[in-house]
Amino acid sequence: MANKVQHDYHDRRRKKLLIRRTVIVAVCVVIVVAIVGIVLFINKLVQPDGDGSAANVDSRSIPTSQTEDISSETASPSSSDAVQTAAAVEGKDGKIAAGENLTGYEALYPDLYAQMPLNGGKLKVPESKTVYLTFDDGPSVLTQPLLDVLDQYQAKVTFFDTAQPLTNGYQDLMKTCVEKGHAVGIHSYSHIYANIYSSVEAYLDDFNQMYEKIKSVTGVAPRFFRFPGGSNGGGKMNETREKIIKEMIRRGFIYYDWDGSSGDANADVAQNADTLYTNTMKAIHRDCNIILMHNINGKDATIEALKRIIPDAQNEGYNFKALDGTLDPTHGYCMHETLPILMKALNDSPYFTVSDESKKKFG
Ligand SMILES: [Zn+2]
Repeated sequence: MANKVQHDYHDRRRKKLLIRRTVIVAVCVVIVVAIVGIVLFINKLVQPDGDGSAANVDSRSIPTSQTEDISSETASPSSSDAVQTAAAVEGKDGKIAAGENLTGYEALYPDLYAQMPLNGGKLKVPESKTVYLTFDDGPSVLTQPLLDVLDQYQAKVTFFDTAQPLTNGYQDLMKTCVEKGHAVGIHSYSHIYANIYSSVEAYLDDFNQMYEKIKSVTGVAPRFFRFPGGSNGGGKMNETREKIIKEMIRRGFIYYDWDGSSGDANADVAQNADTLYTNTMKAIHRDCNIILMHNINGKDATIEALKRIIPDAQNEGYNFKALDGTLDPTHGYCMHETLPILMKALNDSPYFTVSDESKKKFG
């Protein structure tokens, strides 16, 4: 009896010890797991902050346009930069894609978008000793005589055409210009300032008519244009110019003003070939790249001056080229009032990257 009692006592004591050891081991395991968990948690908490903040500093200190491959960027929706700057998207027929949920004038003319820019939209400054002669307001009775001079010296130029002369049988001349390797850009359908600059809608209506006309006559969709009166609209575009410039860049069309002029728009000297020659050569020697001239009835002296300008400049090592839409329109030859608007519109565009030179110069 006494033995059984003693045995039961030892048995209970052994069980108590076993339970106590099990509890101690379990508590130790819980403590170890908790410590490991806390260490891992802290580690995880610290590391992404380090990477994350470094990434943020990088993306904010480098302008978006320098870090993007504009042709293939796939933006992460979590990136604030990506939300602000849409990726460059190609729509149908190799054109820039119209955006979604457009309203107002942005929704008008859904086919009026430029072709995807050449050179991936990377805009460049002119090569040294390169001159882009530009002829506004044609075609005209003087287009063939001008083409003959250009042929003689193998010079290429750019025409900014209007529609009024086309009714007089000059459509073939516009086509001939393109076939000969010259460029034809949009100037205006009506060229009536009071109409085209009265609203964005009115400007788009005029532009769309000329875009379709040039495309159907030449078979080439124009990529660039020149505002009648320049990007300041001859002083008639103050109310609407910012909206019009932004809208045209949004649709992928860039424009060119000029940084040198022959002076042939000025009635006092338009018939003086010597003065036109001197004005143009001075501009060329000042490193102007885009020279303003006209190709309409009455500008005979411009052609006379060109017969000396082209060979003389070529003898000095200058080349005459046609615009192709890859030249940076902000570099040096933009009107002061419109330059900041154009620069911002290009910087905001996913389709264009302004040249490093212009970035340095204009920010
Ligand atoms: Zn004009």
